[in-house]
Amino acid sequence: MSATRVLVLNSGSSSVKYQLLDMADGSRLAMGIVERIGEETSRLRHTPLARGGEAREWAGPVADHDSALKAVSEELARDGLGLDSPELAAIGHRVVHGGKAFTEPTVIDDAVLAEIERLIPVAPLHNPANLTGIRTAMALRPDLPQVAVFDTAFHTTMPESAARYAIDVETADEHRVRRYGFHGTSHAYVSRATAELLGRAPEEVNVIVLHLGNGASASAVRGGRCVDTSMGLTPLEGLVMGTRSGDLDPAVIFHLARVGGMSIDEIDTLLNKKSGLVGLCGDNDMREIERRIGEGDEAARLAFDIYIHRLKKYIGAYYAVLGTVDAIAFTAGVGENAAPVRAAAVAGLETLGLAVDGALNAVRSDEPRLISPEDARVKVAVVPTDEELEIATQTYALVRPAEKT
Ligand code: AMP
Repeated sequence: MSATRVLVLNSGSSSVKYQLLDMADGSRLAMGIVERIGEETSRLRHTPLARGGEAREWAGPVADHDSALKAVSEELARDGLGLDSPELAAIGHRVVHGGKAFTEPTVIDDAVLAEIERLIPVAPLHNPANLTGIRTAMALRPDLPQVAVFDTAFHTTMPESAARYAIDVETADEHRVRRYGFHGTSHAYVSRATAELLGRAPEEVNVIVLHLGNGASASAVRGGRCVDTSMGLTPLEGLVMGTRSGDLDPAVIFHLARVGGMSIDEIDTLLNKKSGLVGLCGDNDMREIERRIGEGDEAARLAFDIYIHRLKKYIGAYYAVLGTVDAIAFTAGVGENAAPVRAAAVAGLETLGLAVDGALNAVRSDEPRLISPEDARVKVAVVPTDEELEIATQTYALVRPAEKT
């Protein structure tokens, strides 16, 4: 019996999300999350999907990532799926920043760990937590292949014309200031799934992917390769997000520092945590914003309009970058669920061949589907993202024993 299971770990600063998949058939065996690591009120929620089981919850202090992963391992073991199982083929880790170096998923060794560490200055919030998760998992199963799947990797195909900022080249290179892009695992998965939905090979189609979750990003994908994306050096650039501003004049920062007397850290917090939808109207959940708009709330209406205006600008920009577009794909929490956002984003773009069929757009479903009229020149699709499946697929492709011919 060969090992076909892959554990996917997404280690944040105070949480670990995990899924166990069986790559023999892509099925999900278990999933869960440990939250508030390092606090007294940590929580573990584990769902043993293989047994159609009920979620088990557990609360109490979890001191660090090591304890968190041990708790996860114990929960998995209760279902006969423990980390010591011979059926576990590998652990796949989500790593946020892979810089220019990592263009593909990579089996982790000391050199890879050192490079992820070297990238901490450009990903101070994410890479340290990702590293902690990797080191903990390596200590638990030193014999098992561990694979890093980078959020930036899909975007490393961007040409220099899209990846560089127009600033002094020497300064940029010295500090590795360039556009890296994020959500790459999702953009890769969704662009491929969109081609599949159209019944065509990824190499044959041009797709604009709109990943609209609490974080949001757009990408232009030509023939399966990313040629531009809206996030940059950090996930702050681009679309209006739940709590991030997205694009703004960089001089806003100088102004807030010089005239507003704010510190760099205060501005960082303002733009990353207190801006976007929450800064504009106090809510970052699109459901709540839709409800408030229904009640005639003007701040919610304006927040929605600003969100849509920015989204439309990116659709237009990426249309121009690609020249011809076969499909636009909406994904992530807002993209998959918010029909009014999808309708508003393409409203008035009929001359670009873009339209949404009202009835199809209103359908709720977990399946990839087309929502454009049948004769539409450019298809509009809703494609649920699945970053865990993509990480597991990429991880397994690297470690599975060569097929016997
Ligand atoms: P994500 O980051 O992909 O998990 O997306 C989370 C966001 O999706 C939430 O903050 C909401 O704004 C949005 N969302 C989730 N469900 C719905 C829904 N049914 N309608 C509108 N927006 C939704």
